[in-house]
Order: sequence, then structure tokens, then C-alpha cells
Amino acid sequence: MEAFIKSKARQLGFSACGIAKAEAVDRDVQQHYQNWIKGHHHGEMGYLERNIDKRFDPTLLVPGCKSLIVCALNYYPSEPLEGNYRIAYYAYGKDYHKVLKDKLYQLAQAMEAQLGENPTLAQRNSSEGKSFKPRALVDSAPILERYWAQKAGLGWIGRNKQLIIPGAGSYFFLGILATDLELQADAPYPNRCGNCKACINACPTGALGEIFDARRCISYLTIEQKSPIPSDFSTFFEHRIYGCDSCQTACPWNRFAKATTEKDFFPNDKLRGMTDADWDNLTQQQFDELFSESAVERAGYEGLKRNIEAVKE
Ligand code: SF4
Ligand code: SF4
Repeated sequence: MEAFIKSKARQLGFSACGIAKAEAVDRDVQQHYQNWIKGHHHGEMGYLERNIDKRFDPTLLVPGCKSLIVCALNYYPSEPLEGNYRIAYYAYGKDYHKVLKDKLYQLAQAMEAQLGENPTLAQRNSSEGKSFKPRALVDSAPILERYWAQKAGLGWIGRNKQLIIPGAGSYFFLGILATDLELQADAPYPNRCGNCKACINACPTGALGEIFDARRCISYLTIEQKSPIPSDFSTFFEHRIYGCDSCQTACPWNRFAKATTEKDFFPNDKLRGMTDADWDNLTQQQFDELFSESAVERAGYEGLKRNIEAVKE
């Protein structure tokens, strides 16, 4: 079954797939997270303070789940958008939540069909006769995606706080399928950052270190923060108006990044055609045409305008 899942995940376009046992998160990770919240490093992201019990134990989030199937989908663009204004690579195409969830549910369907053909396996794995629906988790439920990706052997969490896949880099969306199947877990991947600090040195605002300070991070400031952007930070934005890729671009493992073949993540023609003057004078109608199916909707028109005003020369 494990081999079937991984092969099907590949067929669906995932670059990597691994399995972790669903159980409580390691104590030291829980402690680090608690300290991070206590220090208010999460800024205005109040949702990170809630559902801590579920965040620390996926069996409380999805009762009955026994295994977590973690999948990674490449979003690295073939080339950056032209012009001065910059939006993060992950936001070039359609909203990844839907794209990943669709694929994860296709994987779940294929697993169900496979189990149907192997009744012994189905019996051995059934959760005491209770019905269980696999659940796809894509950045919308309290779960530590990168932690589970490392546990599932996909890669390690780098000093830039991204999941780094050896030989492939970090430009990946992560999605998790929680299942009641008792699957054989993969071995966790060891950290291979070594003495490198390229991401820390590349961060324009000093957000990276022992503790990641979201309040200094351009991604947080341009997407999550609803209050005005402090001018002492916006001077470092350098035309970044939605997110920031600097700590990923600097990472030597991203020299292995290959352009995604997932058409949903290609920028549309309107986005490709945007000039600096178009960004300067962005209207609500243009915003809707550009981002109706995109994660950029999260910032909203007013939010994006605020960001443009903050970096305009
Ligand atoms: S996304 Fe940008 S601002 Fe945030 S930590 Fe990385 S380099 Fe620093
Ligand atoms: S830049 Fe270096 S330290 Fe940072 S995540 Fe990549 S390998 Fe690790």
C-alpha cells in the first residue's frame, strides 16, 4: 500500500510523498512553539494561538487518523515576472489550497479503490468498523505541515524555516492526507544546513535567527498584517508588494529547483502583462481580473494598494 500511495502521488504530479505516524508532536517542538507565541513573535496571526492541543496532536484534529501522508507540489516558476514590482513566486498562479486538496482527494479515492481490491488489507486496517473519511489538510487546519514533512522523510526544516527537499529545493506547497490506515512510516530526514547561514544574511529585515520573528518578515507584513506597515520596515521592501522569496533564493539547495509543470501555477497573461505603471494605478476591477482565483485575494485590493503605496518611489 505504501508503494502504491507513493507511485500514485507521483502520477498526480507531486514531487515527493512520505508517510508519518499520526501522534503527538515532539516535546521540544511544542516548547519552542509555546515560547514563540509567548514572545508575540506571531504578530497579529491570532489563529496561531488557538487550537494548540490539536496543533500538537493530529489525532485530536482528525479523530481516528493513524497515519499522515505528506505530499509536496512544486510551484517554482520558469521565470520571474518582469518589471520592478515583485510578488512571491507561490502567488503567481491559482490558489494552491484548491489545487492541492483536489489532488489529495484523488489520492484518497485511488487508495480506497486499491483497498477494495485487497479486502484483507482493508480489514486489517479498518478503524474498528467505524466509518472514517480521509481528510486533506492544506494550510487551513491547525497542523505543523513542515514538521510532519520532515518526520515523513521529505526533507528538513532549514534556517529559513522552509522545508528543504534534497536535490529539489524549497519551492513546494505541502499538503497532508490524514488517514485511518496504519501505514509503515518513513524515517525522518536529518537537518543538512550545516554551517550555512546564507538565508539569515539575505533576509533584508533581520527576521531570521534562533527564533523567527514574523513581525519583521516581509511576507507577514505584506500579507497577514492588517494594520499599517511601519515605515522603518517598508524601506527594506524593495518593490516587494506581496510576500518575499529572498531567504529561499539565497538557499544553495534551490540551485536544484526546476520549473513547475503544473499549469495551475503558471501566471495568467494579465499578470504577465502588468507594467510598473499598471501596478501604480491598480484599480479594484484590475485586481479582481488578476487575482479572482489566486491566493493574493487574501490581502484584498485595499491590502495590496497599501503595500504598493508603501514601496512607491
Ligand atoms: S521571507 Fe523575506 S523577510 Fe521573511 S524571513 Fe525570508 S527573507 Fe526575511
Ligand atoms: S540558506 Fe543555508 S542555512 Fe538557510 S536554509 Fe538554506 S542551507 Fe539552510
